Amino acid sequence: MTELTGGPSLPQERRVVTAIPGPKSLELQARRSAVVAAGVGSTLPVFTTRAGGGVIEDVDGNSLIDFGSGIAVTSVGNSAEAVVRRATAQLADFTHTCFMVTPYEGYVAVCEQLAELTPGDHAKKSALFNSGAEAVENAVKIARVHTKRQAVVVFDHGYHGRTNLTMALTAKNMPYKQGFGPFAPEVYRVPVAYGYRWPTGPENCGPEAAAQAIDQITKQIGADNVAAIIIEPVLGEGGFIEPAKGFLPRIAQFAKDNGIVFVADEIQSGFCRTGQWFACEDEGIVPDLITTAKGIAGGLPLAAVTGRAEIMDSAHPGGLGGTYGGNPVACAAALGAIETMREMDLNAKAKRIEEVMKGRLAAMQEKFPVIGDIRGRGAMIAIELVKDPATKEPNAEAAGALAKACHAEGLLVLTCGTYGNVLRFLPPLVIGEDLLNEGLDIIEAAFAGL
Ligand SMILES: *Cc1c(COP(=O)(O)O)cnc(C)c1O
Repeated sequence: MTELTGGPSLPQERRVVTAIPGPKSLELQARRSAVVAAGVGSTLPVFTTRAGGGVIEDVDGNSLIDFGSGIAVTSVGNSAEAVVRRATAQLADFTHTCFMVTPYEGYVAVCEQLAELTPGDHAKKSALFNSGAEAVENAVKIARVHTKRQAVVVFDHGYHGRTNLTMALTAKNMPYKQGFGPFAPEVYRVPVAYGYRWPTGPENCGPEAAAQAIDQITKQIGADNVAAIIIEPVLGEGGFIEPAKGFLPRIAQFAKDNGIVFVADEIQSGFCRTGQWFACEDEGIVPDLITTAKGIAGGLPLAAVTGRAEIMDSAHPGGLGGTYGGNPVACAAALGAIETMREMDLNAKAKRIEEVMKGRLAAMQEKFPVIGDIRGRGAMIAIELVKDPATKEPNAEAAGALAKACHAEGLLVLTCGTYGNVLRFLPPLVIGEDLLNEGLDIIEAAFAGL
């Protein structure tokens, strides 16, 4: 029998043949515990053998439905055909030269794609890096050198990474920051328009939150000390919070009026995830700089800062870079991923996923009042769980119990949120609708069993 490979040829079915995790995963987990640092966790310790389309296969022969995409990374599916084809060809040609030593076309071609796909028709330039955190750090470097100012403004519930500067930018203490300080200075946090929890209600939230944020910036920092305002157009780790309408345009305008670089961190929300190339397009925002990573390269490590040419060119030659940034294999993979997004119209697929998921989740909310809020866009959908819809007291226990029940049935889901009470769904955009509905059936059964 010919061995099936991963990627699109993997059978698109859920199959649970052992306990999850099964005996072989448990053996590997024991080996892992002896040599892998405890600080590196895993949501579900099943060890992967192959993955593709909407499934992950494990060492025990189980096939799990994937509602996580490796945290919004494999939007085009694992081992997508064009990603494998282009990355394989590049691997055979050369694996590395360092773009700062001798350049290659793939890097330039990715920057051309970024210039074309990101919002705005102004002249744009990019620099490529390895991880999201590294891209955010470089956006700060570029904004500071451009403005000759130091302060950086971020928001409640924001997440920007785990390096020292990006820990400072990230809102949530546990697990990201606890014990790891001191943190980088000149970082200031202001309110975000979190409609579901806004005291005067979601209708007033956008303008009121923007007014509060702007008041704090002007009174506590001074607008002319601010180099950059950094925001996720849909906040990811913080709980898939879509800032209430009007908030983002008001903040972007304030940045413009005050010579502040407006940075959209689209690392999780970008590249078709929300049904648009970038989530900030939803309210017509044109950021000065945009950071991307996760979905950009079909699973290979690549990240970028893209923005107005005159801002990007503020940094002196040699001031930006890194040994591996824009690795040729990762660039080839990105070109394959972008080709897949265009050819399969993955924005349309993301919108269809939203339609199916929100329809099913709304029906569940009528039966299960523990679902306080359903939100998100495209294939970035979440439900916030509460003890009582009237008090909105966060219900992290329910989120944990539901995730556990889903995992046992062979559905991989992730949790998030400042209060740990959000179940988030990030399926690959290429998932079949039958698997999507089967996953939702499992979620519904898990609610019934709470
Ligand atoms: C994941 C994420 C990051 C950090 O990316 P890494 O590649 O993990 O460093 C930064 N910002 C946002 C919005 C993210 O979701």
